[in-house]
Amino acid sequence: MRHPVPSPPRKPSGELAGSGFGPREAPTEGASTFHAAQDYPVGAGTPFLAIADAVVQSVFWTDKGGWWITCRRPNGDTFGGCHLREKPAFKPGAVVKEGRTIGHVGSTGSATTGPHLHFTVRVNGVAVDPAAYIERGALSAPAPSNPTTPNKEDEEMPLIIQYGKTITVAGGGWKHSFPSRESYDAWRGVWEEQHGQKLPEPKTVSAFTRKAIIRAAS
Ligand SMILES: [Zn+2]
Repeated sequence: MRHPVPSPPRKPSGELAGSGFGPREAPTEGASTFHAAQDYPVGAGTPFLAIADAVVQSVFWTDKGGWWITCRRPNGDTFGGCHLREKPAFKPGAVVKEGRTIGHVGSTGSATTGPHLHFTVRVNGVAVDPAAYIERGALSAPAPSNPTTPNKEDEEMPLIIQYGKTITVAGGGWKHSFPSRESYDAWRGVWEEQHGQKLPEPKTVSAFTRKAIIRAAS
């Protein structure tokens, strides 16, 4: 296993530079107060490397995180990163070897103050300390599951609206519409398994609101 950038910046103490895993003050509006990730403050365009052999799980956009890619290891652990400079050119299911470039560092999304890689690792769907995972081969205690303490990346949460029977799921720059609750539930099951978190119930909206949201997501 390796770090997700070629030469991770370090403090004189040897500790990784950049926001580590744990509680913190939000550095910018919309950033999380529980940082369920390790940040790597490296220049725009730095390759984002697969930390281990894996299969690409998803490539998506969120308003706060910008471009994301997530990968799943054969043991089921997942890793991913966001604020990527451009959409990674991988389809879900692509096989990536340890050290393969899977994206480029950037500063996309609103919850960023400059180019860096926001890097996450999940074990059984729970975010763990990536530095401990990579360097010590050990897992820190999972983030607290108290619902008042965000322990998941809220950046990944799409908007879900219902108008009549139609349910529409919209992220930044993408959307899916489902003609019935049944077809939505089938998709939802896959999404929830991939992301290790539950989606909220659809919000009922007016036809006007639905049009505006769909236009914004297109
Ligand atoms: Zn971060």
